[in-house]
Amino acid sequence: MAIQFREELKELSAYKPGKPIEDVKREYGLNEVIKLASNENPLGCSPKATEAIKKAADNLAIYPDGNCTLLKEALANKTGLKPSQILPSSGSDEMLDQLAKTFVNPGDEAIMADITFSRYIATTKMMGGKPVIVPLKEWTYDIDGMLEAITDKTRLIWLCNPNNPTGTMFTEDKLNDFLAKVPKNIIVVYDEAYNEYVTRDDFPKNSLDLLNDYSNLIVLRTFSKIYGLAALRVGYTMASEEIISNINKIRGPFNVNTLAQVAAVAALGDDDFIKKSYEVNKEGKNFLYKAFDEMGLEYAPSETNHIFVNVEKDANEIFVNLQKKGMIIRPITGTWIRVSIGTAEQNKKFIDLLKEVL
Ligand SMILES: *Cc1c(COP(=O)(O)O)cnc(C)c1O
Repeated sequence: MAIQFREELKELSAYKPGKPIEDVKREYGLNEVIKLASNENPLGCSPKATEAIKKAADNLAIYPDGNCTLLKEALANKTGLKPSQILPSSGSDEMLDQLAKTFVNPGDEAIMADITFSRYIATTKMMGGKPVIVPLKEWTYDIDGMLEAITDKTRLIWLCNPNNPTGTMFTEDKLNDFLAKVPKNIIVVYDEAYNEYVTRDDFPKNSLDLLNDYSNLIVLRTFSKIYGLAALRVGYTMASEEIISNINKIRGPFNVNTLAQVAAVAALGDDDFIKKSYEVNKEGKNFLYKAFDEMGLEYAPSETNHIFVNVEKDANEIFVNLQKKGMIIRPITGTWIRVSIGTAEQNKKFIDLLKEVL
């Protein structure tokens, strides 16, 4: 008799990661491969984080602190929230799953954009939820369209600001207006994975204050992007105590490992590293904008550490041709690729190789 998998799995497929650098080197006989495909910090991470891990490495036989006490305290100090309003997770990815498990019943509608972070649709479907898709307008969230998509079956709304993969943002005014209009029984998940990179003044800098006004709001941040700790898998979620205590019912008891916890605490204490990462990213963005302008390539304005650019040829073909030359980027749709902003040297190399393949 055949094994029966849950019905929802028929709708899902496994995440296809890009090839690791070592595989690309071997496959094409290359000595140097640069990966600008996963929005990682090209400067690495704070040396304080590495130091903290070395110290903690003596204690690997001991289970992690399942409450993430010190990390919650450090985050509470940084954000002004109570530790009980904060919940670390094994990357934001894990939290997206946990949120779907906490809120989505079979048949519930979840509103999301297209194109946006691909985990929103996957976790919604995993729980038997019904994705309601609102296309971007000019590569930017159509916030009004998302409001119009609300029905009495809507359970949850996924927002990513600034957006991955297009790098675009919506403003504080839009967010305030949106939250005021969304019925209070509908959960609004607000994913700020790239907020530390934003340069524009009209970005919602008030997202944490909004938690006081909106008990249906959940804000997600991560240590994987500007903090450069993607390998460790650690992110954090902020919401009302009621929401946090309910997520606590379904999360694994030791979901954030010890090394991730100590490194995250240390990284939070290194403002200089964050400042430098921000500056390098800003300069890299301007360099790439200028190069794209000179090449006559259209791109979406980015408030992140990646740029969504129209290479005017099949994105998959450009991806393969760049990879053969030791440059890994991400094809997204049609003729549009996403390139992560690297160091000055990596960005220059990317432009040189892009010119060659075009
Ligand atoms: C990278 C990313 C995440 C996931 O980050 P992890 O903390 O590494 O799981 C979440 N949301 C968005 C929009 C991202 O781009």
